[in-house]
Amino acid sequence: MGGGYGGSLVAKELDATADVVLVDPREAFVNAAGSLRALTRPDWAVNVFFPFDTLLERGRVVRDRVVSADPAGVTPASGARLDADYLVLATGSGYAYPAKPHPASESIAAALAPLTARATLAVTERLNVAGYDHVYALGDLTDLPDPKMASYAQVHAQVVAANIAAQLAGRTPETVSTPSPDRRILLPLGPHGGAGQLPAPSGVTAVPAATVSERKGLDLFTARFAARFDRSWRFPRPGFVPRQRGPLSFLPLGRGRCQGNRSLVALMRGRHP
Ligand SMILES: Cc1cc2nc3c(=O)[nH]c(=O)nc-3n(C[C@H](O)[C@H](O)[C@H](O)COP(=O)(O)OP(=O)(O)OC[C@H]3O[C@@H](n4cnc5c(N)ncnc54)[C@H](O)[C@@H]3O)c2cc1C
Repeated sequence: MGGGYGGSLVAKELDATADVVLVDPREAFVNAAGSLRALTRPDWAVNVFFPFDTLLERGRVVRDRVVSADPAGVTPASGARLDADYLVLATGSGYAYPAKPHPASESIAAALAPLTARATLAVTERLNVAGYDHVYALGDLTDLPDPKMASYAQVHAQVVAANIAAQLAGRTPETVSTPSPDRRILLPLGPHGGAGQLPAPSGVTAVPAATVSERKGLDLFTARFAARFDRSWRFPRPGFVPRQRGPLSFLPLGRGRCQGNRSLVALMRGRHP
């Protein structure tokens, strides 16, 4: 449950070998790292939203909010129960509005295991929720010492996907999450400026703006998500002239479909425009 940075990657990784069902109330994955630039550059909005309909080839996406979970499956708001052999909790964390319009789904995680004082979920080194070898959690939701950042959620996703794949193949899941004390961060200021620090053999080292630009600032990971969501189409299309109706005038929702900026708010709130 949850198709953000971590959950969408687990779903993608397991799509070929498992019958994946991804549950998320949103119509599209939201690349939060690109959202601030989209506020100042309307043409950038295309790089923030990646519709779920191109994520999976075999699996399916259920557009709904999970309202309860137990070790055998989940129940979305629609009431249509989904039984599952494996469960991955990837519902993220809450942020002040409008960064994340919904409160975190902590009560769902709490139904499986007691939450910590920070309202996070304790996991084992293999990212199992304590007591269940077929229930996993990752990303912002967990009590891991990793920073609450997309990059770490995606590292967790690889661990979860590897362990579930091992279990499906009848092997012992052995991939572990090893939190690093080295803190990496890249803070772009526009496409070409910024500052950051990255781990290096000599320890964590400041990197120049050119490195920040090359590794993040230029595309804010758009290429990575274009690949994950199989976005073979390009936008804006040749000859496309955006209507200027506000700071975010146009929102592409998939091949050939757009909505105005009121719909953007609806989408971020998890409602169909
Ligand atoms: C404005 C902004 C900019 C950021 N920039 C960066 C950055 O540049 N680099 C970086 O590393 N990190 C960045 N972050 C932090 C990053 O977004 C989070 O650390 C990351 O999203 C956590 O990933 P996740 O997979 O745990 O959860 P998320 O990516 O938050 O995904 C959670 C998903 O779960 C879904 N969900 C929630 N509740 C339910 C439910 N009950 N049922 C079903 N689905 C549910 C949500 O709709 C969402 O799609 C930024 C955050 C914000 C707000």
